[in-house]
Amino acid sequence: MKEVKQPRKPLIYYYVIALLIVLLFNLLVTPLLSQQQVTEVDYGTFMDMIEDGDIGIVQVEDTQILFTGKDQTVIYATTPMDDPTLTERLHDAGAKFARVIEEPVSPVWSFLLTFGLPILIFFLLGQYMSRKLMEQAGGGKNSLSFGMGKSNAKVYVQSSKGIKFSDVAGEDEAKESLAEVVDYLHSPEKYAKAGAAMPKGILLVGPPGTGKTMLAKAVAGEANVPFFSISGSEFVEMFVGMGASKVRDLFKQAKEKSPCIVFIDEIDAIGQKRSAGGNYGGNDEREQTLNQLLTEMDGFEENTGVIILAATNRPESLDPALTRPGRFDRRVPVELPDLAGREAILKVHARKIQTAEDVDFHTIARMAAGASGAELGNIINEAALRAVRGGRTVVTQADLEESIEVVIAGYQKKNAVLSDREKKVVAYHEIGHALVAAMQSHSAPVQKITIIPRTSGALGYTMQVDTGDKYLLTKEEIEDKIATYTGGRAAEEVVFGQITTGASNDIEQATKLARAMIARYGMSEDFDMVAMETVQNQYLGSDVSLACAPDTQKEIDRKVVELVKRQHEKARKILEDNRGKLDELASFLYEKETITGDEFMEILTGGKQA
Ligand code: ADP
Ligand code: ZN
Repeated sequence: MKEVKQPRKPLIYYYVIALLIVLLFNLLVTPLLSQQQVTEVDYGTFMDMIEDGDIGIVQVEDTQILFTGKDQTVIYATTPMDDPTLTERLHDAGAKFARVIEEPVSPVWSFLLTFGLPILIFFLLGQYMSRKLMEQAGGGKNSLSFGMGKSNAKVYVQSSKGIKFSDVAGEDEAKESLAEVVDYLHSPEKYAKAGAAMPKGILLVGPPGTGKTMLAKAVAGEANVPFFSISGSEFVEMFVGMGASKVRDLFKQAKEKSPCIVFIDEIDAIGQKRSAGGNYGGNDEREQTLNQLLTEMDGFEENTGVIILAATNRPESLDPALTRPGRFDRRVPVELPDLAGREAILKVHARKIQTAEDVDFHTIARMAAGASGAELGNIINEAALRAVRGGRTVVTQADLEESIEVVIAGYQKKNAVLSDREKKVVAYHEIGHALVAAMQSHSAPVQKITIIPRTSGALGYTMQVDTGDKYLLTKEEIEDKIATYTGGRAAEEVVFGQITTGASNDIEQATKLARAMIARYGMSEDFDMVAMETVQNQYLGSDVSLACAPDTQKEIDRKVVELVKRQHEKARKILEDNRGKLDELASFLYEKETITGDEFMEILTGGKQA
């Protein structure tokens, strides 16, 4: 949800104008005030004016005579002559003897006039312009109010006409998780009675274009409540203090309209880790805004009917304060769609167009591996445009296939979609983990395997879930775990005879376990129950300090290598012995992209074909 903003003139522009005004003021106005204009005339003119009686005030000094005419508008000056009767004649002409020019302006006044006044003007101007700016930024055309620091959250009050869950294809897990929120908004008293508190904040986590905004809107649409939407970046582009005031205003509006949904897109814009933030000026402002958001979230009671949904594709960069209980303590993953999901999304978007008989969305979905919901929407639209260009109203399979290339080709550059070969390697790698796990007696069962790239950067993922909680691990269990970690790489070796970087995380995990076995768990014969390492902080788990001689360290390192090597060999052997199953499972995963533990076990035990 990006909007095009009108480019605003930078602040420096207004400061330059103000500075120019001050300069002009000093150049033009100040001289006028401190020094009146004096016209030099000769003595003859002075005498003529006395004779004509056209004389007003006169001030005789040693070096000059200052005088005015009867009307006292112009000040004249002339040089004195030796003229003893001058005073008498002046008196006869009705002149008034007084000071023509006022005392030079007092220092206080002159200071005030040359410095005070410009500063005052400068200040007022600044005030005026900043207000003007805030109206521009905070006001927007679709805002309800034009005031300082008003949030420009867009409000969709007629949510009954809005998006429903059925408009969001796939993403069943996310929908399930959010359905509870809808139920809560329908009947909050039910929850209050049971003493259950709905989370105040829910974080939607996933790559761009996967329908996070859509899901948030759908929650409001299903619950038939108002929907406030604002992007995190809109909070932090203004002056210091503006973001915080916008947050305050947003929550004020939301509380008035409760029950309602507040959606904050790109929350990482304000919610970045505070320590990690760069020092590029805007930091203070972002921090203030974040603090205000936290304060507001802590401030309102549970069960007020205001639910805050926030979206991010970089959950790891969020400040831990944001995800603490009572804030965004629920996380809903919104991942890229798998094959079935892609087909469903294509069909949802195809409701808007007319399709020919030959259109096969399954094939299209297969071709568009790695595409997000937004891109699939684009593919449909691109195909419709192609049909129109061809003078048709009906979209054909050829249009769709052609548009995949247009959309995905552009997409491939930015996101590196897996090539066919890579996808195959990843499929074998993941099945390698799963198969090694399944063939060992001490491994947890496989629950889900996917080769859809994750937000975290992992290309595939094998999820194992222990049956029941486990607090104690036996030596054999840890060894099997290490073997399972090496299973991915082992499959690459067995099948392709070539290894890839895909195992880097596995290597890290396997090493950690092996090291802990030897240095901390006393699971090697040579060292018996002697601690070689101690953990400083068991919650962070990273502060490990060594407690042994350098020679012993060398020995530990050697043992770790030996241990991992042995497990790696074991894994490779398992895979070689089960090559048939490995191929079968890998090609099934390659086709479907996600398989469940049940499907996995079915193929493993029954040999059923997909
Ligand atoms: P996000 O907020 O995750 O970046 P959006 O919700 O803005 O993504 O999605 C952008 C567009 O992509 C939507 O308007 C919709 O057309 C399409 N889209 C994304 N995911 C889905 C989906 N699961 N079902 C249907 N359309 C989708
Ligand atoms: Zn792996």
